[in-house]
Amino acid sequence: MNESMFSVLLDVGRARRQGLSAIAQRRRARLDAMVTFARSNSPYYRELYQHLPERIENHTALPVVSKQELMRHFDDWVADREVTFTEVRTFVDNPELIGQQFIGKYSVAMTSGSTGTPGIFLLDRRNWAVTLALSLRMMMSWLSAGDMLRLLVRGGRAATVYAMGGHYIGATSYGAIRTKRAARRLRALPAQMPMRDLVVELNSFRPALLTGYASTMLLLAGEQEAGRLHIRPVQVYPSSEGLSSDGYKCIARAFGAKVRTFYAATECLFIAVGCEHGWHHVNSDWVMLEPVDADYRPVPPGQESDTVLVSNLANRVQPILRYDLGDRILQRPDPCPGGNLLPAIRLRGRAADVPTFPTERGEKVSMPPLVLEVDHVPGVELFQLVQSAPTLLRVRLRTAADADPNRVWQAVHVELAKLLTEHGLGHVSIKLAAEPPIPSSSGKYRTVIPLL
Ligand SMILES: [Zn+2]
Repeated sequence: MNESMFSVLLDVGRARRQGLSAIAQRRRARLDAMVTFARSNSPYYRELYQHLPERIENHTALPVVSKQELMRHFDDWVADREVTFTEVRTFVDNPELIGQQFIGKYSVAMTSGSTGTPGIFLLDRRNWAVTLALSLRMMMSWLSAGDMLRLLVRGGRAATVYAMGGHYIGATSYGAIRTKRAARRLRALPAQMPMRDLVVELNSFRPALLTGYASTMLLLAGEQEAGRLHIRPVQVYPSSEGLSSDGYKCIARAFGAKVRTFYAATECLFIAVGCEHGWHHVNSDWVMLEPVDADYRPVPPGQESDTVLVSNLANRVQPILRYDLGDRILQRPDPCPGGNLLPAIRLRGRAADVPTFPTERGEKVSMPPLVLEVDHVPGVELFQLVQSAPTLLRVRLRTAADADPNRVWQAVHVELAKLLTEHGLGHVSIKLAAEPPIPSSSGKYRTVIPLL
């Protein structure tokens, strides 16, 4: 029952060698076990599943759950009767406890709620064993022998830049994996730190591996190109948040490093692993990922989904089963050229980040954030689009230090006007905002902020 990181690592290796049917068999068995566990230990799921047969033949028949619903029924949702919302709330309200264990058993991570209800998630030891095993496997798949050598020569230090001021997953993970021996080689820096200070810290720490929010990595790439930051990471891991491929190329070029991404959420830290062909391969022995439309009907490969349902097959304390994650994804219909047979997906942004505009004829047009990317315009360091009225888009712009802000703005305006016109939205006004891009409370920059 209680897998260690090594036993998980061995089993994952075995499953992947045996092929897709061995992987599917494990997923099925783990799903069965998780459903049985949830029914016996979580009053919320017991009630939710009460009309379903004892043995579930088809898991897509299980009702979908949402963060709002689960948070509303927090005390009944958790599968450990020792845990209450009131006590967990008191725990997360205390910043001195960041990275520590709640009642000596669980890590706690909250989500900022920038796009809805804030969530509070408990992560058990089994969840960490699976997360660490799959992360280790992911890193090994990314590092060539040459990379390993460079990593050792450059001191093997790793820096992460995430939100550190609250119980967010970056700080929680850091607390969970930090040991006395590892502390010297690991440095966690707050994403909210002023850029100047972040540059000083990174220059003195000289990380060989760098990870953090994609938007922060992009800003750091700008600092490196401007000559203020001079680090030599072997690899950079921006968390997947829908940066355009130009953005990733820009990071790779600035650091002369390989850029690899992964797809993770606080609800499930090991969803998928990026490959060199620009896709993410789902860890489908430990996670069930279902691309669905707005009515939760399955969406076939090759077609963009409205949202995605995730089932975390490792974390028992708060079962996550067919949970609406809110991300739009696209599954590749054909095999990925790298030979990896695991389902290949691409993240197309969060559903909550998709603005809808009225056309002049009164129809509605939705624009996925990736359509509205303008970071390839020379001189754009960071941008944020705010839909302030149904037909008004305000652009928060941060330009490179050596660029002429007026010129950059003119070029961005031309580009956005062209994109909108192509979608029949030529009547939408585009205005430059007085303020620069603003991060959410977790330090993350949303590219598009639709009208509520
Ligand atoms: Zn691939």
